[in-house]
Amino acid sequence: AAVRLELDRRERELAEQRDDLARARAEAVTAARAKDLFLANMGHELRTPLNAILGCAEMLREEATAAGLGQLLPDIQTVDRSGRHLVAVIEDILDLARLEAGVPQLRRESVAVAPLAEEMEAAVRPQLRGKPLRWRMVLEPGLGDITTDATKLRQILLNLLSNAVKFTARGEVELAVRAAREGDREFIAFCVADTGIGIDADKLSLLFRDFSQVHDARHGFGGTGLGLAISRRFARLLGGDIVVDSESGRGSSFTLLLPRGEPTAEPRRD
Ligand code: ADP
Repeated sequence: AAVRLELDRRERELAEQRDDLARARAEAVTAARAKDLFLANMGHELRTPLNAILGCAEMLREEATAAGLGQLLPDIQTVDRSGRHLVAVIEDILDLARLEAGVPQLRRESVAVAPLAEEMEAAVRPQLRGKPLRWRMVLEPGLGDITTDATKLRQILLNLLSNAVKFTARGEVELAVRAAREGDREFIAFCVADTGIGIDADKLSLLFRDFSQVHDARHGFGGTGLGLAISRRFARLLGGDIVVDSESGRGSSFTLLLPRGEPTAEPRRD
């Protein structure tokens, strides 16, 4: 009888533990949803007044110029620059919140690779201005099309290219695009290489973490530490990945590998 009682007690204990576990799990799911919703709402709430601030800065700039108050322009420019930086931070946080909140809507569209690379070149050119940096683009002939989410692809490439320019004081930034094959799977490899400050080998694994910045903030590079985290998530959603190779003081290369994909018979309308 004593053994029976002991067994009953153990069984009750186990059942209670199971209940506790189920409750904790449900609470974790609710908390995660609340967090995502909070982040998304916060993003919207922050963007609205920020856009008003940026609009006012633009108006002030015009008024100051018209009234011959040129001495005000540097301060107005600081308002504008800081505001824009904040917009970029908010966009990153919103992207992350959307990614965490569930499976994002992916488009599948057929894009010609070489023109897309040329578009990226045009987008990065303004960032090169005033820096002693050579720009090089190497496109393998006959790259053809890729079927993917073009907006996300552009966002990843722009992030890699902006980083390459940001972390390179002199030398060269290069975008090389080539076709690759693994078994019967075809890929397009977009390689962004620079001759910049590089990354210590022991820090490479930290690069893709949320909010991780490998270089001392005192260097004044700015940024959020979210770009690569978001880019890798996007790359994986598109069936590919980003790999990095770097040497401290010599430069880095980030390669985005994406499956070429099957061309869609009809573009999805969404
Ligand atoms: P952010 O650029 O906003 O700081 P990222 O997620 O894009 O955020 O990059 C994270 C960190 O990785 C950067 O802060 C920097 O320390 C390092 N990093 C990224 N790209 C490069 C690069 N091309 N060269 C050297 N370091 C880089």
